[in-house]
Amino acid sequence: MASETYSFQAEVSRLLDIVANALYSNKEVFLRELISNSSDACDKLRYAAITQPELTQDDPDFRVNIIPTKEARTVTVQDNGIGMNRDDLVENLGTIASSGTMKFMEQLEQARQQGESNQEALNMIGQFGVGFYAAFVVADKVEVETRKAGESQGWRWTSDGRGEFSIEETEDAPARGTRVRLHLKGDQDEFLEDARIRTIVQKYSDHIALPIYLREGEDAAQINTASALWTRPKSEITEDQYNEFYHHVAHAMDDPWLRIHFKAEGKVEYTGLLFIPNQKPFDLFHPDRKHGVKLYVRRVFITENCEDLVPAYLRFLRGVVDSEDLPLNISREMLQHNPRVTKIKQTLTTRVLNELKKKANKDAEAYGEFWEDFGAVLKEGLYEDTENQDTLLELARFHSSEREGLISLEDYVANMKEGQEAIYFVTGDTKEALAKSPQLEGFRAKGIEVLLLHHPIDDFWVPAVGTYKEVPFKSVTQGAADLDKFKSDQSEQDQGEQPDETTVGTLVAFLKTALEDKVKDVRQSERLTDSACCLVADEGDMDIHLERLLRQHGQTTPQSKRILEVNPRHPLINRLAETVKGQSNQADAKEAAYLLLDQARIMEGDNPEDPSAFAKRLSDLVAKGLAA
Ligand code: ADP
Ligand code: MG
Repeated sequence: MASETYSFQAEVSRLLDIVANALYSNKEVFLRELISNSSDACDKLRYAAITQPELTQDDPDFRVNIIPTKEARTVTVQDNGIGMNRDDLVENLGTIASSGTMKFMEQLEQARQQGESNQEALNMIGQFGVGFYAAFVVADKVEVETRKAGESQGWRWTSDGRGEFSIEETEDAPARGTRVRLHLKGDQDEFLEDARIRTIVQKYSDHIALPIYLREGEDAAQINTASALWTRPKSEITEDQYNEFYHHVAHAMDDPWLRIHFKAEGKVEYTGLLFIPNQKPFDLFHPDRKHGVKLYVRRVFITENCEDLVPAYLRFLRGVVDSEDLPLNISREMLQHNPRVTKIKQTLTTRVLNELKKKANKDAEAYGEFWEDFGAVLKEGLYEDTENQDTLLELARFHSSEREGLISLEDYVANMKEGQEAIYFVTGDTKEALAKSPQLEGFRAKGIEVLLLHHPIDDFWVPAVGTYKEVPFKSVTQGAADLDKFKSDQSEQDQGEQPDETTVGTLVAFLKTALEDKVKDVRQSERLTDSACCLVADEGDMDIHLERLLRQHGQTTPQSKRILEVNPRHPLINRLAETVKGQSNQADAKEAAYLLLDQARIMEGDNPEDPSAFAKRLSDLVAKGLAA
């Protein structure tokens, strides 16, 4: 059959450029990427052979060979792993599978245009699984000859990395596995040197658990240690080796923020080598992202997709778990609801949370950085994992209305005013908007701290958790503010003049009638000092922000009527009260009432009920004001 030519998916071509640029000063990593792929391919076949032993019978010892050929100026990386057939080649070496990749690539390009450091670009690249394309940084032509385990047909994939690749049948493929041959660019002869290859392998790939040989056949020399890194004693592993291992398992290029290497003994025995990345993975909130912890059983790779191994709220973890007591021939389906796996998950979770606690106590600043990246995910645990709720509450950090930086609930409670019986919070979309929300004014005036909760998950865990050390959480946008009992930090004069009780009473009564079918109630506000009005939820009604959130996610929640609170010290309310009392201009007063309500809605981040009516009222009123 003749060779067929394909175009790379458009994104791949763009990606090739970006990769070539970003990797240029670090081009030796191409070798690490190819070895990493070979190692993955051997892991996959080792797993498949558990149920189909005939796949590896002829050649049971997995290995990688690196073969430099000076005359031809090629470097070849060859493995006897799972191999690829035609469909695999098209799929794996011609397209980019991950759906988040496009978006991410745009970020990468942006970063580059803004002149961000090469290291940052590198860190990003690692995350989206494009390691193979690094070959084109040093090669102007790449040939892949491969035969899939259990299949007879071999295939050759060829490309110069400039938009097209071709695939043809070949007799020259290895008996099983993949051979990647790089035709080096003119100035890349260094990669033909034995010493250079040895150094690179020792630097980046020593942790790979299968033997890597320089050359093949009789002159082959093993150039790595080839024992699974996590099985070695901690004292014999260097920082660099740990970091390189992390790069390999996490497909990352940053250095990890935290490392946990431990051996669990007792009811379930396993070794864990876990990492928390320094940088937030781009697909942290992507629904179909892979789980980052690989499961091994006695050194044999089983899967990297075991959902039951790590709770979803720790999905930023990377690394391996190697079990001593799961059966080797366990299928991925059998892993679901397996009591041993559940037990691993429990002990692993406890271990990770304890390490986080230690880190929080030891280095608050570094912990704060971690929290900014991963706190929103960790907080899902408050909702999902009641068993660890207390620990998670201890680990949680918050922005507050009173202080810069992050605080813990312990900090909050220590700062409560005399007589304060609740942990006050407000939920919303950004902490900047929250810091300005009118509902906070009264609290601020009295020096009462309010937690600013700006992640969607906050609307769910707070009601579920209810209290911290028996102090209840209380939303400042819900129910009465009860601020009277606290002494004010400001003097009364600062707060403007207040009309007498009857005038305020008449206004409130008027507004109730005017807005009868729009609001649940109208009342004089205790929480406002600067703004004219705001909306609050009645005690027992759904929180305003939560309701909007649910509506945005397509849930048809009936819209609850809200309570409109007005601030009689505000000049606008003051004037309105006088107008209503004087019984003049009732029609104008009614228009103003509608405007007030819409204004309160806008401050909530909502839209006016009827935007065009709102615009008309506003322009009429302004026109009148200007004419007067
Ligand atoms: P990643 O390794 O992150 O998936 P790569 O760009 O390095 O991304 O590789 C893309 C895909 O090509 C791999 O996921 C794998 O399916 C396939 N592949 C690459 N090298 C090999 C190999 N040596 N043997 C088998 N499959 C391979
Ligand atoms: Mg790879």
